[in-house]
Amino acid sequence: MDNPIAAVTALVSLAHSLFDFASKIKKDDISKDEFLLKVSEWNKQLLETQLVITDLINKNMALEQENRRLKEHESDPLIWRNAKYWKDGDDVPFCPVCYESPERYRHHMTPYSPTAGAITYTCGHCKRYS
Ligand SMILES: [Zn+2]
Repeated sequence: MDNPIAAVTALVSLAHSLFDFASKIKKDDISKDEFLLKVSEWNKQLLETQLVITDLINKNMALEQENRRLKEHESDPLIWRNAKYWKDGDDVPFCPVCYESPERYRHHMTPYSPTAGAITYTCGHCKRYS
């Protein structure tokens, strides 16, 4: 069950039936075993509801993170120059491989000089050179 409204509705419905059962116990209309069975059903539904809510929290956190990243891209665009992405006024480029990935990550590259005089950059995330 991945619908939170259905999960909560089922939980509330079971709670109502527990109250009904509890009132019948006082009248000796049902057995203790029947009541315990109902409690275990309620407990199972409660656990399923907790899983649904946990999943929703995780999805919400992922969406908030993506939203922050998209806002950052929108408000602070990068410039393509010398086969790398640069932020206006920044001396360190961003990795083009990471930035062009579906997640649009912005990873600063690290200066790397395999030969004297030729400065290239490497990405600490994807390990590519540029
Ligand atoms: Zn990278």
